[in-house]
Amino acid sequence: MARYLVTGSAGMLGSSLRRLLGEEGAVYLTREDADLTNFEATAALFRTHKPEYVIHCAAVVGGIGSNSVHSGEYFRHNILINLNVLEAARKTGVKRLISFMSTCVFPDKTEYPLKETNLHNGAPHPSNFGYAYAKRMLEVQSSAYRKEWNCDFIVAIPTNMYGPCDDFALEGGHVIPSLIHRCFLRQQEGADLPAWGSGAPLREFVYVDDIARLALWALEHYREEDPIIFSSGIERSIKELVEIVADKMKFTGKIIWDPTKPDGQFRKPSDTTKLRRYLPDFQFTPLDEGIEKSVEWFKANYPNIRQ
Ligand code: GDP
Repeated sequence: MARYLVTGSAGMLGSSLRRLLGEEGAVYLTREDADLTNFEATAALFRTHKPEYVIHCAAVVGGIGSNSVHSGEYFRHNILINLNVLEAARKTGVKRLISFMSTCVFPDKTEYPLKETNLHNGAPHPSNFGYAYAKRMLEVQSSAYRKEWNCDFIVAIPTNMYGPCDDFALEGGHVIPSLIHRCFLRQQEGADLPAWGSGAPLREFVYVDDIARLALWALEHYREEDPIIFSSGIERSIKELVEIVADKMKFTGKIIWDPTKPDGQFRKPSDTTKLRRYLPDFQFTPLDEGIEKSVEWFKANYPNIRQ
């Protein structure tokens, strides 16, 4: 019998949880262990391991490019994975389960800062609606299961997460891993570093180990039915970010902003009131420290990185 079962453990958050929890009493599942879109295969794993707590990180994710092209696949995969994992957890009597959305599943037209209570109040951005609706169903399924079967399933909503074991795809990835990878290659070539858009947009970046620590806290202490946003609430500009990455990579070329690439939303600040009510003193990893750790990890693991 396992105390913890982590799905998606080859991913960024799963890997961080593994560093934090260690091997004893925990089971880490990857795609090799089972196809979570298949209910029988998923249920068989749960029957074998009989976990007390489940940290469900498995998902099909990608940047804006990949999301808009594969809206059907992102919808289908995520909805099936979530449906099966939560159902297998219910059937095997899991004590508590935590799953994750992202602030990009919030309504496109909404008020800021983003609040947990506004999750369903409007359609998501058209560029990622397949992914967003599938992820929102995590909250619906968790609360429906709680109502009918008293399942103790909770949902957390991190903002822009980054860190070791990220997906370092050059074009389809998120800004931090893409830039680290591109910067590395450009430095080797002695070329300048292209960055997308104007550099003006603001984002709340959170180091993955902070999310892992918060997930374990929530699993133990968070008793509300509604989701909870995990963020520092500190906005940083993309310009500042690119400069930090270039500095940590010891990049000697110039940064060239490419205005033909999308800026995306200007800002999407989140409301951290609820998190701060529980954890007023929680220390988030400062951005430059988190980037430094991510850069070190990238250099130590290149070329064996996800991309
Ligand atoms: P999201 O916009 O919060 O969904 O996340 P992204 O990580 O894809 O992009 C965040 C911001 O970084 C956007 O304003 C982009 O224009 C900017 N950005 C700058 N350079 C890059 C890059 O190389 N890749 C990506 N994905 N974004 C970049």
